[in-house]
Amino acid sequence: KKFGIDKALEELGISKMNAGSSTGTDFFAHGEEIKSYSPVDGAYIGSVKATTKEDYEKVASTAFKGFKEWRKLPAPQRGEVVRQFNDELRRLKAPLGKLVSYEMGKSYQEGLGEVQEMIDICDFAVGLSRQLHGLTMHSERPGHRMYEQYHPLGVVGVISAFNFPVAVWSWNTALAWVCGDACIWKGSEKTPLTSVACQKIAARVFEQNGVPAGISSLVTGDYKVGEYMTSDERLPLISATGSTRMGKIVAQDVAKRLGKTLLELGGNNAIIVTPDADIKNTVIGAVFGAVGTCGQRCTSTRRLIVHEDVYDKVKTAIVDAYKQIRIGNPLDENNHVGPLIDKDAVQNYLAALEKVKQEGGNVLVEGGVLEGEGYESGCYVKPAIAEAENHFEIVQHETFAPVLYIMKYSGSIENAMDMQNGVRQGLSSAIMTNNLREAEYFLSVEGSDCGIANVNIGTSGAEIGGAFGGEKDTGGGRESGSDAWKIYMRRQTNTINYTTELPLAQGIKFDL
Ligand code: NAD
Repeated sequence: KKFGIDKALEELGISKMNAGSSTGTDFFAHGEEIKSYSPVDGAYIGSVKATTKEDYEKVASTAFKGFKEWRKLPAPQRGEVVRQFNDELRRLKAPLGKLVSYEMGKSYQEGLGEVQEMIDICDFAVGLSRQLHGLTMHSERPGHRMYEQYHPLGVVGVISAFNFPVAVWSWNTALAWVCGDACIWKGSEKTPLTSVACQKIAARVFEQNGVPAGISSLVTGDYKVGEYMTSDERLPLISATGSTRMGKIVAQDVAKRLGKTLLELGGNNAIIVTPDADIKNTVIGAVFGAVGTCGQRCTSTRRLIVHEDVYDKVKTAIVDAYKQIRIGNPLDENNHVGPLIDKDAVQNYLAALEKVKQEGGNVLVEGGVLEGEGYESGCYVKPAIAEAENHFEIVQHETFAPVLYIMKYSGSIENAMDMQNGVRQGLSSAIMTNNLREAEYFLSVEGSDCGIANVNIGTSGAEIGGAFGGEKDTGGGRESGSDAWKIYMRRQTNTINYTTELPLAQGIKFDL
């Protein structure tokens, strides 16, 4: 059963196409062919060509030329273009959501949710286009006025991961565009067709509005194409989403030329369950967090830190809930969990299960690869649960698969807090409690060290209105809502003297 995927591809105009780099509606690329196969059924979807160094030069110089024009357009007019882009996203939400689901493997509902995030951030960006505010200050010198303003930054490089193949691009670009920047996007080599579909939508709207070529640009390929971007001095900012391993390399490459990075890297997210937790909500939050998107969200729940008083109760409830999970074609809305992205991911998942056993973990819900009808792609796995200890090497690492580690704490909330913070990653965290003191401690200066800290909701699933990102090995970047837009602009402090005198700052005398 194809669940209407052919029709969706047709509506998006990417049926079995060859495409690659683009600075507009015109696709070109001359590198090796990247074939995209669906993890859903193993079928070939289409292919793109990789961007060569020469192709990249054309993209970057067009983007830079375009930026010089685009930055002069008043920000609210740039917002109007983003508003029209958003209309197209609304119109194409179903086919784009379907392609995300089919090429990446997340459930159709989650595919639609991702496109909804794009729509939401565009709405946010349109409002923001009239609110790119700076502050005014009182000058210490008489007859002087001092203020700050934000100018467009330049051509921004966006490198994104396979697991959110469309939303992360728009989190960056919708804001960067209203800020007056041009964007060059390298999507994941594992999801090239969703990138092409997005670029087609943006390029069409931009062209209709007479926006110069290059404001939305796409390059395709693996890390080598990413390196063209990280080493390019014309790109003042590289926003990179992916593994911590990648982030450490990108951070150094960009720092060598004193460029800026916005890094959104791996997580190792925990939910603390205290004796005062609502167990029903805990189970819903933990199960969705651990198995949603087949455990391939940066905010997926990896660790459950449960107080000994409620440990057995929580354990039994979660194990029972896992029995109800339906694994299968993610386009079939009866299923909860789709496949992993590819067979390498399956190997990593199996290796993690092996390792946790070796380290002394106790498997509560057995994993394994599913075989037979409907599972031909070889990417479908069973979500697993293991009792483990926080210091295990495997627990300290992010395994990008549906493996949940459950562990016990005793005594006070401080002990759970030490366990939660006792990993290198610092993205998302949650506490389940109806005890005000525990909740406030968790949110306090001594509490969670993560960029996201939730009370009585799970770790996964953020709203675009807040700034998104995390600390430590998660990279420190923030994107999406709040004042995350500031990184896409350059700040300038201006002082104006409207007198006939020239007093110097700090009262310095310099008589001529
Ligand atoms: P990955 O690191 O393998 O690849 C991410 C992107 O980086 C790809 O486009 C890849 O081509 C590119 N890349 C890799 N090496 C590069 C280099 N040296 N120079 C330039 N570009 C390079 O990650 P993945 O497997 O696609 O995604 C999964 C990871 O992403 C997980 O660790 C997950 O937690 C993380 N992630 C984080 C967030 C967040 O917001 N914090 C969001 C989504 C995913």
